[in-house]
Amino acid sequence: MRVVVTGGAGFLGSHLCEKLLARGDEVVAVDNFCTGDPANVAHLAHEDGFELRRLDVSEPFTVDGPVDAVLHFASPASPVDYLRMPIETLRVGSAGTQNALDLAEARGARLVLASTSEVYGDPEIHPQPESYWGNVNPVGPRGVYDEAKRFAEALTLAYRQSRGVNTGIVRIFNTFGPRMRPNDGRAIPNFVRQALAGDPVTVSGDGSQTRSICYVDDLVEAILRMMDSDHSGPVNIGNPHEISMKDLADWIVRLTASSSPITFIERPIDDPTVRRPDTTLASTLLGWEPRIPIEDALKWTIGWFRDRPIGTQPLSAA
Ligand code: NAD
Ligand code: UDP
Repeated sequence: MRVVVTGGAGFLGSHLCEKLLARGDEVVAVDNFCTGDPANVAHLAHEDGFELRRLDVSEPFTVDGPVDAVLHFASPASPVDYLRMPIETLRVGSAGTQNALDLAEARGARLVLASTSEVYGDPEIHPQPESYWGNVNPVGPRGVYDEAKRFAEALTLAYRQSRGVNTGIVRIFNTFGPRMRPNDGRAIPNFVRQALAGDPVTVSGDGSQTRSICYVDDLVEAILRMMDSDHSGPVNIGNPHEISMKDLADWIVRLTASSSPITFIERPIDDPTVRRPDTTLASTLLGWEPRIPIEDALKWTIGWFRDRPIGTQPLSAA
């Protein structure tokens, strides 16, 4: 297959490119590097069938040659990033998604949209099944991301129903692993960076809020199964391993053998209190279950950050 990966130089996108090439697919990664970095895919540059193109998918774009699938992953994803780029985030979720859908339609390709657990907002149902409509504040600071993704889901379904495009939607829950930027603002890179530096580990609020964390390799496996299927979704993809942010911070401090203290900082507005995927659908439709133990995954991720002190990270991480 020849697969276009939007956001291919980002954290998840770069892992998708790597896995696709490893199984023999060709990959065209497109990215404007607003939060990603060519360094994330530099190790793939010599591979046959890999191409990286710099472009903004919020503007109309095309890709030469055949296209069998489009994995639409372009979007800022960390709260720090999308609060810094609110309009760009809304545009990539709306115009960017439409441009990706137009490409898929023109080439008869399947498109998989990277949606998010954020469509559930601060959920009143726990764990969250796909049938839950969510509790999102459209005019809160996170609205730019949540509503962009909700619009992207609606648009994707409209292309499927009214134009016959073969689409699928995955709702991704918090995923971590190598190639996250150490200062992208998300909890795991922050905690690891701080613990390795011996700096205070910043837990927001009282740290009782929960997330369910999934290792990137498990996530990539699920995305490829979704790409290879005809399911429309939305399908939750995540690891039901739920943990409070205080316990996660303590765990990372222990695994890094750090003497960092925990410090409590202000909780962001509209920060969801709980989050855990109901993964019944992923298991039934895709035969997928997360397999990688979180402690192993945290150790590998810590090892990756340890080998790359902050000054040696890709430029956009600065
Ligand atoms: P990331 O910031 O590392 O990657 C996003 C990539 O998209 C970057 O390379 C960035 O430069 C690129 N990009 C952004 N806007 C673009 C545009 N207009 N044109 C071209 N490229 C653009 O984030 P990530 O964690 O890898 O997330 C990837 C996707 O997965 C996003 O759509 C995100 O919403 C979704 N997602 C991620 C998670 C997670 O836990 N990592 C959870 C839910 C959903
Ligand atoms: N968080 C934290 N300290 C940090 C960064 C984040 O306690 O340095 C909290 C954040 O307030 C949220 C949780 O960790 O409650 C997960 O945040 P992240 O940005 O990783 O993901 P998201 O909020 O998008 O699920």
